Amino acid sequence: MPTPSESDGVVVLHAENLTKSFGGIRAVDHLNLTLARSELRCLIGPNGAGKSTLFGLLSGLHRPDTGRILFKGEDITNLQPFQRVRKGLCQKFQTTRIYRSLTVAQNLLIAGGTHTSNRKKNEKLSWALSTLGLDSEHEVSAGKLSHSHQQWLEICLALATEPDLLLLDEPTAGMTPEETALTAQFVVNLNRQALTVLVVEHDMAFVRYIAQSVTVLHYGRIFTEGSLDEIESNQEVRRIYLGES
Ligand code: ADP
Ligand code: MG
Repeated sequence: MPTPSESDGVVVLHAENLTKSFGGIRAVDHLNLTLARSELRCLIGPNGAGKSTLFGLLSGLHRPDTGRILFKGEDITNLQPFQRVRKGLCQKFQTTRIYRSLTVAQNLLIAGGTHTSNRKKNEKLSWALSTLGLDSEHEVSAGKLSHSHQQWLEICLALATEPDLLLLDEPTAGMTPEETALTAQFVVNLNRQALTVLVVEHDMAFVRYIAQSVTVLHYGRIFTEGSLDEIESNQEVRRIYLGES
């Protein structure tokens, strides 16, 4: 397959030589990552591999020590998180972003803000709310939703910003196997609607369901990339990731 190039618009994200240290710990180490438009990529790796730090660099929570990030061909390395959201790069909000005393509808209104092109036409969001059963909970206080519905609301809040690239860090944490399967199916369908998604997930059932390209991170570097079959049959990956000797 030819390497996607920025000039033909195939590349949505290109991170180059990214490094981020915390004190003596190099959480992300001279990392390169390229995502093609409409790609669905799973990012896996042992605890402490640097997955969340990489997300923080991409969403603007952290500033890199070295390297740069190009989003849709534009250098966004020095932009604030809200500026990246406006450009279409959104990470699923953390739980603290939900206003628990406000209703689902009010939370969505706030997340959508004023920059979105035409909120009424945010078809992905309408589809997501009904698929996840949140459309019947418009008037419910967010704090009263079940754990999984709060997680799903967070994804919908991100969709309200009309992203081109969605970052999901462990979206199924604390979910039952059934809820995990529904989330996986949902993410696949979301991706089919031309949304580029990068998802960190520990749950291999989730990764298997998605079964697209998988990137393995280890000590802040890309250890290997490939299909899930390739990753699972790679002895070195089994050693570092699955703890086999
Ligand atoms: P992962 O998400 O893959 O589990 P993280 O990105 O959270 O990994 O962490 C990578 C390394 O960076 C770990 O050693 C972690 O302890 C360290 N780290 C992450 N965030 C911070 C922080 N804000 N301050 C200090 N150390 C951090
Ligand atoms: Mg993490």
